[in-house]
Amino acid sequence: EGEEADERKRRAKVLGEKCKKSYQEGRGHMLPLVDMAKLFAVRGARITILTTYANAKIIRPTIDNSIYLYIIPFPSTDFDLPEGCENQNFALPDNQRKNFFKAVDSLRIPFDAVLKDLCPDCVVTDMFLPWTYYIAAARGIPRLVFHGINNFALCATNAFNSCRLLLEEKEPFVLPDLPHQIMMLRTQVMDFEKLAGTPMEFLLEKNKEIEEVDAKNYGTVINSFYELEPEYADHYRKVMGRRAWNVGPVSLCNQEVTCKLLRGGEQSMSVSECLKWLDEKPMSSVVYVCFGSSGLFSLAQLREMALGLEASTLSFIWVVRNGDNNWIPEGYEERIKGRGMVINGWAPQLLILNHFAVGGFVTHCGWNSSLEGICAGLPMATWPLFAEQFYNEKLLVEVLKVGVEVGSKVFDFNPETRPILEATIIEAAVRNLMGEGEEADERRRRAKVLAEKARRAIEKGGSSYNEIEKLMQELINRRKHV
Ligand code: UDP
Repeated sequence: EGEEADERKRRAKVLGEKCKKSYQEGRGHMLPLVDMAKLFAVRGARITILTTYANAKIIRPTIDNSIYLYIIPFPSTDFDLPEGCENQNFALPDNQRKNFFKAVDSLRIPFDAVLKDLCPDCVVTDMFLPWTYYIAAARGIPRLVFHGINNFALCATNAFNSCRLLLEEKEPFVLPDLPHQIMMLRTQVMDFEKLAGTPMEFLLEKNKEIEEVDAKNYGTVINSFYELEPEYADHYRKVMGRRAWNVGPVSLCNQEVTCKLLRGGEQSMSVSECLKWLDEKPMSSVVYVCFGSSGLFSLAQLREMALGLEASTLSFIWVVRNGDNNWIPEGYEERIKGRGMVINGWAPQLLILNHFAVGGFVTHCGWNSSLEGICAGLPMATWPLFAEQFYNEKLLVEVLKVGVEVGSKVFDFNPETRPILEATIIEAAVRNLMGEGEEADERRRRAKVLAEKARRAIEKGGSSYNEIEKLMQELINRRKHV
């Protein structure tokens, strides 16, 4: 309380109004972590999810009483953040993003108090919380880290770091010492060093902290399954020397329609309307286009996308997150009526991907979406934007051979400066994805085989099922000896 605190609260309110809440960024780590918790709970683990009020609201509808939610307050206003800013739902300016990370880091004290209170056998925390390692270690509790990415991307990141100083800026290069010959452009690779001197420099510092604890952690839990990327699961363990458990695909824990429906928060449109629309379409005839929880585009790019999808003459569901509608070409809605559905906001992705009418997925290659596409047995057109998405594209297109590239070549967080892909390129990629011919048929066949392997991995006796068993047993044995 007091004048200073009141002033901070007032500023936070004003800021909150300025930061239009238009998209749900950052769900890509929270959703799989909650799914993973559910998979462990089903196997008898006692799970507590430690979170804050706003995030608890998103998580609560998707879990049952077997999982306990431990809610702590988030100090938004103490760090000059908008009121209620507890996740990345807020379109924060760069200088505010740094404050958000600082506020998260300040949760050390309640985190420690909770560990003291619960004495868990282990903690699983996200990679962006490297300090949790030290606090858990001080209490003798093993920390498992969740990176949100697959073995392939973990290995590729390591390979890039090992050669980055030797690379020419303009020359394509091969990621060294990987099981496949993976050629990349510098423009496609996430290079934290490039953030030096920019307002996002704090991410470079954060990355250093993450790397510092990476090998010290008890191990890594990965949302993947062994049969999907065996060479890379082995490489991560044997060559990089990490202890790892592949326990996915975690989204498959959501078998009930209500689970699929509630995942991720409010849907921006009537789900029954969307499903009814799909029910009337022929089998495998619809393209689903979605760029995850944070894929924003410039208005010019959205217009090209609109025209490309229209020109493909295919039916489509397209999820747009920009919040306003002034990108829509004149007369567009009329022209695509009955054939195209545009969802502004959050879509019930798991339900859509698994609907019989959907035959292809245009994705930004976020790992959750990619794996959900694999589980649904769908071929994908790949359009990576940033983060490790360009590595995932390589995995989908060159290693698993279930994807076709749309043609994105430049990693850029900023939708305004990212090069624009023209309508004709988008049209061609979508036609290729949904087309006929041996190549497209082979892609579809391979996608179906992978979906079957994914399903088997989490069933009793499957590889991920067994990994969960092994990890739980190991932690129980450890408890007996401590
Ligand atoms: N998602 C969803 N509806 C949407 C957009 C995304 O349900 O409209 C879910 C999707 O199923 C996935 C997650 O949000 O589980 C996005 O994670 P991903 O790793 O694909 O991308 P990110 O958001 O991290 O870029």
